[in-house]
Amino acid sequence: MRRINILGSTGSIGAQALQIAALHPELFQIGALTAHSQAEALFEQVRKFHPQMAGLTGMKAGDIEIPEDVKFCDWRFGPDALLCAARDVPCDDVLVSVVGMIGLPAVMAARGAGRRVLLANKEALVAGGQIVMAACADGPDGPTLIPVDSEHSAIYQCLRAAQGNPYEKILLTASGGAFRDFTLDQLKNATLAQALTHPNWSMGAKITVDSASMFNKALEIIEARWLFDARPEQIEVLIHPQSIVHSMVQFRDGAVLAQLGAPDMRVPIAYAMAYPQRIETAAPKADFPSIGQCTFTAVDPVRFPAVGMAYEALRMGGAAACMLNAANEEANARFRAGGLGFMQIGHVVEETLARIGNLPAHTIEEVYAADAAARREARRIMETCQE
Ligand code: NDP
Ligand code: MG
Repeated sequence: MRRINILGSTGSIGAQALQIAALHPELFQIGALTAHSQAEALFEQVRKFHPQMAGLTGMKAGDIEIPEDVKFCDWRFGPDALLCAARDVPCDDVLVSVVGMIGLPAVMAARGAGRRVLLANKEALVAGGQIVMAACADGPDGPTLIPVDSEHSAIYQCLRAAQGNPYEKILLTASGGAFRDFTLDQLKNATLAQALTHPNWSMGAKITVDSASMFNKALEIIEARWLFDARPEQIEVLIHPQSIVHSMVQFRDGAVLAQLGAPDMRVPIAYAMAYPQRIETAAPKADFPSIGQCTFTAVDPVRFPAVGMAYEALRMGGAAACMLNAANEEANARFRAGGLGFMQIGHVVEETLARIGNLPAHTIEEVYAADAAARREARRIMETCQE
C-alpha cells in the first residue's frame, strides 16, 4: 500500500491519477488533495477518497463554506496549502500535477521532507533544473523522482531496459499539436478555440496551447536535458502525428528502443504510481492494424520557433530556461485571455531573453528572482504588442 498526496487533483493529470487509485484501492491510499478554485470538484474527490488533508490554493479561509460531510479532513487555504500537502501530510509519494512554475516550491518541499516525487509539472524542472536534480538523487530505496510526462516516462522505461548501457541520442516525439499543418499565415490568425482542439490528447488549457505553439516540446527538451543528463545535441525532436511511439532512445550499436501504446496519460501516471510494477489502467490497448502507419518528420523551425529557443536557452545556461518558461507562462496566459496573437507568444519569449540577457541560477532564490524578472519584462513587452 502506497500513500500518495496529489497536488492539483482536479486537473487533467490529477483526476486521471485518482482514476488509477480508484481501480486499485488495495495499492493506493490518498493522504492529501489540492485544487486551486474548483471547490465543488474537490469536495466530490474528498467524499470519495477520504484524504487526511484537502487544500484550496486559490482561496482564503472563509471564502467558501465547507460542506458538513467533508469537514472530517483538515482544510487548508492559499499557497501554503500546497506546501502542507507536499511536506507536512505523511505519505510515500507526492504527485505534482499543478500547472506552472508554482510547482517548483512544492517539489522542493516534498523532497525536503523525503517524499518521492511523481513529476507531471515540467515547469518546475525547466525552471529549477540543476537544483531540482540535486534534490532528487537516487536514494537507498531507489529513485526519488519519477517522470509522468509521457515522453519522459517512455525514455525512462527505455533506459531501464538498456541495463546501464549509455545512450547516444534521445528521440523525443511530438504530435505537432493543433496547428501541425497550419501555414504561417494561418498561424498568425489562429484563435484560442482552434488551439484548444488537440488532435490526440485531452489536457489542461495551458499545456494544450503549449502543444499548439510547440513550447510544450521546448519545455520537454529542457526537461529531458535534466532528467537524463543529456547534452542538447543528444536530443532530437520528431513530429509523429499518430502519438503511438511515446519516445525513443538510440544506442551506439545503432539499436533504437521505443515505448509504444495508445495515447492515454493513465499509462505513464500508473507507471509512476506503481513503479516498478505495471498495473491495470483501463486505457485502451494499441490496435496496430487500425493505426496502419507511424510517420516521423523534422520540426519546421519557421512555423515553430519555440523548439530552437529551447536549444538556445540550454546553450545560454544559467537562468535562461527559467526565463523562457516564465515568459511563456505569461504569454500563454495572455493569449488565452484574448490579449495576444498566437505568433506573438514566441516573440514575447525571444524578446524577454534578449532584453534581460542571462541571470545566474545557482540558488533557488536566484531562480525565483530570474522568474520574476522575466515575468515583469514579458508583461512590459506585451503592452506594446498589437493583437
Ligand atoms: P490542468 O489545468 O488540467 O490542472 C491543473 C491543476 O492545478 C488543477 O487541479 C488546478 O486547480 C491546479 N492549479 C491551477 N493553478 C494553480 C495554482 N496557481 N496553484 C496551485 N494549483 C493550481 O493541468 P494539467 O493536468 O493538464 O497539467 C498539469 C501539469 O502536468 C502541467 O505542468 C502540465 O504541463 C503537465 N502535463 C500534463 C499532461 C496532460 O495530459 N494534461 C501531460 C504531460 C504533462 P483547479 O482545477 O481548481 O483550477
Ligand atoms: Mg509530454
